[in-house]
Amino acid sequence: MKTIFEKSVAGREGCWPCEGMAEEAYIPKELLRDGDVGLPSASELDVVRHFTRLSQRNFGVDGNFYPLGSCTMKYNPKFTEVVAAMPGFTRLHPVLPQLRGAGGLCQGALEVMYETESLLCEITGMSAFTLHPMAGAHGELTGVMLMAAYHKDRGNKKTKVIVPDSAHGTNPASAAIAGFDVVSVESKDGIVDPAALAEVLDDEVAGMMMTCPNTLGLFEKNLPEIVKMLRKVDALLYYDGANLNAIMGKMRVGDVGFDIVHLNLHKTFATPHGGGGPGSGPVGVSEKVAPFLPISRVAKREDGRYFLDYDQPKSIGYVAPFYGNFGVYLKAYAYILRLGGKGLTRATENAVLAANYMRKRLCDHFEVPYNRICMHEFVASASEQAKKGVHALDFAKGLLDKGYHAPTVYFPLIVPEAIMIEPTETENKETLDQFCDDLIELAGLVDSNPEALTSAPVTLPVTRLDETKAARSMELTDDL
Ligand SMILES: *Cc1c(COP(=O)(O)O)cnc(C)c1O
Repeated sequence: MKTIFEKSVAGREGCWPCEGMAEEAYIPKELLRDGDVGLPSASELDVVRHFTRLSQRNFGVDGNFYPLGSCTMKYNPKFTEVVAAMPGFTRLHPVLPQLRGAGGLCQGALEVMYETESLLCEITGMSAFTLHPMAGAHGELTGVMLMAAYHKDRGNKKTKVIVPDSAHGTNPASAAIAGFDVVSVESKDGIVDPAALAEVLDDEVAGMMMTCPNTLGLFEKNLPEIVKMLRKVDALLYYDGANLNAIMGKMRVGDVGFDIVHLNLHKTFATPHGGGGPGSGPVGVSEKVAPFLPISRVAKREDGRYFLDYDQPKSIGYVAPFYGNFGVYLKAYAYILRLGGKGLTRATENAVLAANYMRKRLCDHFEVPYNRICMHEFVASASEQAKKGVHALDFAKGLLDKGYHAPTVYFPLIVPEAIMIEPTETENKETLDQFCDDLIELAGLVDSNPEALTSAPVTLPVTRLDETKAARSMELTDDL
């Protein structure tokens, strides 16, 4: 495909808003450039086609099924984009006067923040929320910093954070970055084993981070017991709620006894994960952790007006410039109001139903190491096929030829040849069936024509790459 510069033809141009008008008439002469800017010359149609074609080289959930486990690439309703694009929001400056003038100049935005926090409290059963963290991992880091601040305030000497081996990889990373020693605890039959936990639990444990459902897509059945054990040593319970679409409307994290939770709004609440766009990882806390939340906190005055409260002596301080990614939580706010409690509960039910439906359809063709009721995703394994030389990666590449985005492969690490599939709540049965049919067809090729898999993809502009080289010594070309 030619670049726009190669398509340039001297003198060709698109339509000009002020046809016939000399440039000097609307740009002061002294500001006009002397030389050529070096921009391509192309007609409007050429430009539109060029960029439309480029955009179609990208894979997105608007194009086809995107079952990327752990990432919730679901349809995001377009009405939330309309709400987020309202000029009353997009044109706000972050340091507008809050209370001055008739009603202040950003009371609406402050109300959105206040109400979003309240709704998230209601959904999770926590006492307070901050919307500042800009991603899931950023929320985790904030959460572990809150843990540290809580213990420091109480004069506790704590050095360790426990993270099960089935946790999301960002959990141990966040605990380590916050300065804690990470203690791993082995899962048994796919979930945390209280006996194994007892072996590593002591007075130096600041807290435990639980990914629930864990990366195997399994619910942690022993939560109540785990909470009790941690309480005994004054350790805090952290809930990685990135994938709340597995439990929303069914269980409230706060009710179970968790002290800190982060949510990925860019997974569960209307923004897809991984689009390269902004994220939002709000953190909710129980009452005893609330005084340490980052500043500023949005608060409501007695006269009903809102303001940003910076007077929080125990706060851990700033974790983000201004107030986090406003557009993302504005979309979440609109989404929550549109769905309501019943709608959110149905989203969870559909996400779990879709995952279990696919697990059942695929488990005769692929090994599923924990083949029981799962939550919003499940992990299959290509270990049987790998014995014949066809690996999880080859299935991922084969699916590209079928027009899909590949599922997550080789994660979680505790399953060899992992293929982690998350269908999400927004795909219909026909799409799920078609994907299962296609994957089963690929499994059939392992005996009849394995090269078709090991040499895939053959239909895409970029075919099989040496993945290490592609990352380490990239050769860029526009010759596609
Ligand atoms: C996606 C995810 C994260 C990390 O979220 P980012 O926004 O990518 O930083 C953390 N934990 C779990 C369980 C996740 O699925």
